[in-house]
Amino acid sequence: MERKIVLAEKDIPTHYYNLLADLPTPLDPPLHPATKQPVSPQDLAVIFPMELIKQEVSSERYIEIPEEVRKAYTKYRPTPLYRALELEKALDTPAHIYYKYEGVSPAGSHKLNTALAQAYYNKQAGIKRIATETGAGQWGSSLALACKEFGLQCKVYMVKVSYEQKPYRRSMIQAWGSEVVPSPSPDTKAGRDILAKDPNSRGSLGIAISEAVEDAASREDTNYSLGSVLNHVLLHQTVIGLEAKKQMEIAGEYPDIVIGCVGGGSNFGGLALPFIKDKFDGKNIRAIAVEPTSCPSLTGGEYRYDFGDVAGLTPLLLMYTLGHDFMPPSIHAGGLRYHGMSPLVSKLYKEKYIEAQAYPQTEVFEAGVLFARTEGIIPAPESAHAIKAAIEEARRAKVEGTKKIILFNLSGHGLLDLSAYDAYFAGQLNNGNNK
Ligand SMILES: *Cc1c(COP(=O)(O)O)cnc(C)c1O
Repeated sequence: MERKIVLAEKDIPTHYYNLLADLPTPLDPPLHPATKQPVSPQDLAVIFPMELIKQEVSSERYIEIPEEVRKAYTKYRPTPLYRALELEKALDTPAHIYYKYEGVSPAGSHKLNTALAQAYYNKQAGIKRIATETGAGQWGSSLALACKEFGLQCKVYMVKVSYEQKPYRRSMIQAWGSEVVPSPSPDTKAGRDILAKDPNSRGSLGIAISEAVEDAASREDTNYSLGSVLNHVLLHQTVIGLEAKKQMEIAGEYPDIVIGCVGGGSNFGGLALPFIKDKFDGKNIRAIAVEPTSCPSLTGGEYRYDFGDVAGLTPLLLMYTLGHDFMPPSIHAGGLRYHGMSPLVSKLYKEKYIEAQAYPQTEVFEAGVLFARTEGIIPAPESAHAIKAAIEEARRAKVEGTKKIILFNLSGHGLLDLSAYDAYFAGQLNNGNNK
């Protein structure tokens, strides 16, 4: 039995898969923050290149991946698919557990998949500079590398709590040649307003988005780039699921359950959407989105229109949300601290095509440590949520005596999150408001 299934460079997908083409009913449109009317392509063109705006609403099922982007993908794609033999043994489960490992990217997570595509389309549109926000730094570092790849400048507004807690991703952003500032920053009006009210603000993704959007909207040569949530981001991430499908085929199995952690929904969507297509076509498959109990957008939020940021500058999106002024506790899975959720993932959840589960962070770290001690890879705390759910499903399979095939997305490695593991080993993690 093969432990890992590795594809050749020629197996990197030639097209992204666009689930919008197969949705039984269309997504509700984003609304303009002021007029509450559907946003027009011209509204979005202030901060996004037209190619990405087209992808955002495209009904084309397969969208070609530009040759330059496929070439950039060869630096780390195709990523391996592993059978978690050691973890299965430790759980004494009849389930077969597979994981797609996105931590082999130079940035250490799946985010580079969309960063490269977005940098490319911006470059093609004549843009010179990109502004963005980052939480734990995975997105900022990925975009920094992608901008370097395609010769763009980049400024990253990094949530202050992460800027201070996770200095190494800040260093990566600098190593790849981008500028990085803690958010809220004095560089934007949105940042200055927050600082005037609360000079000690620890920041949030919502605040940082406000800053980056303002930066991009106020400069002709600058666009904005978002690392999750939007349709075109999930579209780019489908390279994960498309590769995984080929790899599962080689393994001679088809998953009963696909699992991904959810912050804004992109790594989950990237793995799951190509399989959801099969579900629309009649396959019996469950897809589970996993979130922290302390930031439970799907399992604890409301389905309604809400802003993507704190200041209310972004379009209103119909999604599961905890409210755009929700201040998540500073849990160590920084990438899962967003108040909202991808409208596409939200709709799939609302219409019961997918399920959601939430777990407290101590249980998540326990799962992550079991994974490290069996499979060897130290997972990102975000990814450990998916591991936790996979373990729970494998345990259930044991109780039920069924041979379930489980596939989850190991969205990144945890080598830059070891301080969070330190806190866990020192017994300093609780499930609420720890530092
Ligand atoms: C950013 C990140 C996430 C969460 O973001 P999604 O858009 O929901 O995928 C999960 N895992 C890792 C490793 C990340 O960097």
